[in-house]
Amino acid sequence: MSKLSQEKVHCCDIMAKYIEPNCAHHPNPFDCEDALVKYNPRFDSYALYARFGSTWVTSINYCPWCGDKKRDLSDLYFDRMDAMGIEDALSGEVPEAFQTAKWWRDEDL
Ligand SMILES: [Zn+2]
Ligand SMILES: [Zn+2]
Repeated sequence: MSKLSQEKVHCCDIMAKYIEPNCAHHPNPFDCEDALVKYNPRFDSYALYARFGSTWVTSINYCPWCGDKKRDLSDLYFDRMDAMGIEDALSGEVPEAFQTAKWWRDEDL
């Protein structure tokens, strides 16, 4: 699991446990039945793993366990990319801060 998502304090212990299960067997969370939620530090967003052999996730707006409201900064992220004239905003040459949670932490969002 990434270091950045460990630094994020999640809303409740159950959420944290399903994002980063204590599992030594599955380096890829898509393989682990104990990993239910994917946290995306880049957008500060949460999603449920939709498995069945795919790598899709589906976004959630609230924590299923404690009801904490979640956000998704992807619209803002793509606005920032547009402003910088970056077309390939996910896999292309993106400033380092925008590859992680750093950009929205720096902006204090
Ligand atoms: Zn929660
Ligand atoms: Zn596992």
